[in-house]
Amino acid sequence: MKRLVGVSNRTAAGGPKAGGLAVALWDALVQRKGLWFGWSGEVAGTARRGVELFEEEGVEFAVTDLTEAEHEGYYLGYANRALWPVLHYRVDLANFDEEQYDCYRDVNRRFAKLLYPRLREDDLVWIHDYHFFPMAQDLRDLGWTGRTGFFLHVPFPPPEIFKSVPDHRALAKGVCANDVIGFQTVSDRDNFAKYSVAELGAKQLDDEALSLDGRRIAIRAYPIGIDAVEFQKLSHSEEAKAAIERIEPFLGDSRALILGVDRMDYSKGIPNRFQAVGRLLDNAPELHGKIAYTQIAPPSRTKVEEYAELREQLDSLAGRINGDYGDLDWIPIRYLARSYNRDQLAGLYRIARVGLVTPLHDGMNLVAKEYVAAQDPEDPGVLVLSQFAGAAEQLKDGALLVNPHDTAGTADAIHEALTMPLAERKRRHEALAEVVFGQDIAWWREAFLADLDPSGNGSGSVV
Ligand code: UDP
Repeated sequence: MKRLVGVSNRTAAGGPKAGGLAVALWDALVQRKGLWFGWSGEVAGTARRGVELFEEEGVEFAVTDLTEAEHEGYYLGYANRALWPVLHYRVDLANFDEEQYDCYRDVNRRFAKLLYPRLREDDLVWIHDYHFFPMAQDLRDLGWTGRTGFFLHVPFPPPEIFKSVPDHRALAKGVCANDVIGFQTVSDRDNFAKYSVAELGAKQLDDEALSLDGRRIAIRAYPIGIDAVEFQKLSHSEEAKAAIERIEPFLGDSRALILGVDRMDYSKGIPNRFQAVGRLLDNAPELHGKIAYTQIAPPSRTKVEEYAELREQLDSLAGRINGDYGDLDWIPIRYLARSYNRDQLAGLYRIARVGLVTPLHDGMNLVAKEYVAAQDPEDPGVLVLSQFAGAAEQLKDGALLVNPHDTAGTADAIHEALTMPLAERKRRHEALAEVVFGQDIAWWREAFLADLDPSGNGSGSVV
């Protein structure tokens, strides 16, 4: 079995191997005695620019610090304030700064230079996400010829949107230095193909292959999954039970829990969701006092201006809706700007009548899948899911799909979810569970690795 080298901005070194990417990559690296390369998570002075090497359970780690300037320019700047908004269809929020782009390029080159000497001829290199669009090209420039794949965890928008990035061609050409390029959805894959044909002069060989400069590039959708069996178990853990016990007094005998769990990010559509709940309360006075909408929203990227503004917007919207509709014994929106661990979340998902997942755009959205995995199949809750979450491509048959910009439509869907008969809930849950348990994180990993290493004995297949 060939050695696997994973490249991602953050590695799981020293911490729990929890969360989609960390689990998937970790298991593959353990299997293949691999190397995980990335940022140490530390911001240091200019002196410490080498790699730190260590081993955990047979997996080698090679990590490097970012300098203050690199952290600002590459990470907080270009990755978070230029690429993230554009890839989530928010050109209006993008901040393009030449110096930050130069810094992003320099970090990619520096990382490639640190990694290249550690590569062995037969290695498989698997690069993750928009932090490293140019990385494969930078490795090739140093002489690397081995099999190299890239997986984009976030959406790839239509060409007209991606073209707003001043350096879009250089970034996309860099990605095309990979042998396999993976996307979350067929629609992301098709956007990339359309872009590459129009802007890079690539030739589309078929739905899943491009040709550029005489090279064949596989492009495929590999929707990322979760460890569904483990998540189901977590929903019965002691911590899950404790979380349920803590929230139960607020639910009383008859209050239905509607749950949202999102990083506090403008792509998640939380303000739209608050408005939809407000609309629901306008439309259905009989629900006053009968629902408890809890929104868990741990603040993220707080140093970035747009995120600080979102925080203020949410504080004020929640305050306003609670002021308008709340009563002595009832707060309609319980908005918690803090994080909970996976066990606790699993418990809360399990007792939530409605899982409310309404991003404006999202690569996949793992919360949607976790919600499904945690349900009791005999009395399942209902998933209300944005049509713009990557997960909608797989979960459209069981979820109630909504357009998150349509306040009235989202309010109606929540109402339908709250009043849905058991038989329909069960039928929908069965369809959802089939996907979430069948196309889980191991399925995703094996599918990608089978394409990255066609000579290997991977068993993955993508539908
Ligand atoms: N999450 C968590 N604690 C929280 C909120 C979220 O552990 O308080 C986890 C959640 O269980 C999920 C992940 O963070 O696994 C979020 O992944 P998702 O794909 O939904 O969105 P992202 O944050 O990657 O955009």
